[in-house]
Amino acid sequence: MAVVVRFPPSPTGMLHIGSARTALFNWLFARRHGGKFLLRVEDTDRERSTPEAVKAIYEGMNWLGLSWDGEPVIQTNNLARHAAVARELLEQGKAYYCYCTPQELEAMRAEQKTKGQTVRYDGRWRDRDPKEAPADAKPVVRIKMPLEGETTVTDHVLGTITVQNSQLDDMILLRSDGSPTYMLSVVVDDYDMGITHVIRGDDHMTNTFRQVQIIKAMGWPVPEYAHVPMILGPDGQKFSKRHGAPAVSDYRDRGYLPEAMRNYLLRLCWSHGDDEIITDEQAKTWFDLEHIGKSPARFDFVKLDSLNAHYLRLMPDEALAQTTAPFIEKKIGRMPDANELATLARAMPDLKPRAKTLIDLAEAALCYFSTRPLAFDDKAKKHLNEEGKKHLAALATEMGALPDFTAAAVEELFRVYAEKNAVKLGAIAQPLRAALTGTGTSPPIFGVAEILGREETLARISDAAAA
Ligand code: GLU
Repeated sequence: MAVVVRFPPSPTGMLHIGSARTALFNWLFARRHGGKFLLRVEDTDRERSTPEAVKAIYEGMNWLGLSWDGEPVIQTNNLARHAAVARELLEQGKAYYCYCTPQELEAMRAEQKTKGQTVRYDGRWRDRDPKEAPADAKPVVRIKMPLEGETTVTDHVLGTITVQNSQLDDMILLRSDGSPTYMLSVVVDDYDMGITHVIRGDDHMTNTFRQVQIIKAMGWPVPEYAHVPMILGPDGQKFSKRHGAPAVSDYRDRGYLPEAMRNYLLRLCWSHGDDEIITDEQAKTWFDLEHIGKSPARFDFVKLDSLNAHYLRLMPDEALAQTTAPFIEKKIGRMPDANELATLARAMPDLKPRAKTLIDLAEAALCYFSTRPLAFDDKAKKHLNEEGKKHLAALATEMGALPDFTAAAVEELFRVYAEKNAVKLGAIAQPLRAALTGTGTSPPIFGVAEILGREETLARISDAAAA
């Protein structure tokens, strides 16, 4: 049987990082089995669904590289079909009209509470003659849940779980305005889309027992289930805004690479031995439902940073320069031009080993994009004292005469000078750093000099002498 899975987010806000993890699992499962990964926008909550949130879903998925097959299914397009299924169940006597008013239901619940009973619809219209319905009452349609027996779901993650059918109440399929409920829409769409495996958050487990009853009432095949544990914040609480970055877009904006995110998210509740670094190709051959763990995973930003650093280092310099460019734009207010991009690519071997994110890269790269005269921060000013300036002036003359202006040649020149003048290398390299970058920290400074070129290097030193 060909695998067909789905990712059905509700467009009511950002694309949550936990949802993205579930999407990733579905995507990998489909890719591993040569199946289909479908996207469904569950926009039936019209008050809370927004076009911006739909956009956030597409953008987030595209950024993460989780390509779906075919066109996305828009759930509201299928409402008539969902309602038709409810009517079919009515015709078969597997559903019924319930004419309870909200007041009546309220009174019923209040009574159950006082008696210490479970609060649930008591099925009072299940066998009642609709002729007894109050005039102009608008009924809802409820499913007839089995009164006896039990429902068992064999879940790939949670194992076999059984509930007593007496626990399941006759839930609503169609509201009094004729609109289908979420529970019905999900089941009908899953069937119509040919979903074979439902891989979703374990917060949906209670829905599963109810959904299975609708599926069985229609005589449809029950899909296989895998309910995946939640992602928690580093403190073990539900992952939320409080933890800083709940949305997929937060990670994009903070300079994480999609490949690092995929690797990181994959390891939240799924494992392959002790492997931490797992490429897409490996993930697509290894991912399975059996190795999804039962306990929730805590989000670990330190681990994410180290994975991101790993993937940054793997990226070819030109591509990494392109990817970093928008982050530089944020800092300097314009996109680097082609020459600057080439410079950035040349600088990457010096920048990459020290960066965890694209923001780190952009920040460290600023020294190549600064325009003269530079502003000097306090640390720089400290290094540009009389002593420092004196050395720089002498070194500048020597640098002017170097046959090849390379990092190695400049470094050698500085070493010889330090020895001859009995000063520490730092005592002359730090003033150089201050003059070339305006700061006290930068990428390896002789490399910066080479990349800036002789002319710019000497001009910056001359500016510093005058500052
Ligand atoms: N729309 C639901 C959600 O965003 C997903 C439902 C499901 O996976 O069945 O939580």
